[in-house]
Amino acid sequence: MRVALISDVHGNRRALEAVLEAMPDVDGIWCLGDTVGYGPEPAECCRLVRSHAAVVLAGNHDVAVLEPREIARFSPDAARAARWTAEVLDDESRRWLGTLSGSADCGEVGLYHGSPRDPIWEYVTTHTGVRAALEAASAPVIVVGHTHAAICVQLSSGRISGGLRAPGSSVDLTIADRGFVNPGSVGQPRDGDARASFALLRLDDDGRAIEVEFQRAPYDVAATQREVVAAGLPQALADRLALGI
Ligand code: ZN
Repeated sequence: MRVALISDVHGNRRALEAVLEAMPDVDGIWCLGDTVGYGPEPAECCRLVRSHAAVVLAGNHDVAVLEPREIARFSPDAARAARWTAEVLDDESRRWLGTLSGSADCGEVGLYHGSPRDPIWEYVTTHTGVRAALEAASAPVIVVGHTHAAICVQLSSGRISGGLRAPGSSVDLTIADRGFVNPGSVGQPRDGDARASFALLRLDDDGRAIEVEFQRAPYDVAATQREVVAAGLPQALADRLALGI
């Protein structure tokens, strides 16, 4: 069985459609949260994710749109975008976002938006953080979003290795004791590549993850940038899309 991992769509409908178009036939799509926030088409992204993904998590931006007091934790641009999203989002999308949780177990794979220790908010950006995340989880392989960087880190006999993964590369997850995977961000990549990021995860019949492959899909970044500005969202949120930061 093969599933597609997507995360951090962030209201970028063009990037999401490019990913859906680029992905091969899969047995399911797992979405790791932050469907809204930053981008100009949050409601459309909710509809698309809801209709395509078998599993959808809540991310910190999804929570902030429903719980305005959480917006205080954001940077000024993120906060402005969260307030804008809260204003424009339709009731059905809101209700749907309200049903989501920050974590899920799928077979032998643990899914979290941020981490097992703090499924909604923790950023895991270091090997020390990955080690702590793996210690807090029971599944051999865990999958997270939130940092917007496509990575795979593995732990074997106490030794940790790995990091950013190039598009087209794959990692054998059976050679290590534990694995930590982030498919990167569909709608706002921050690993230096502006193209929409996603990953394909192969699973054996017992639901154990055996291989992950990283992919990128080009999309019309300039068109999304125009829509960000037209919506009255901060210019910096448009600019960063072209840079992948
Ligand atoms: Zn995010």
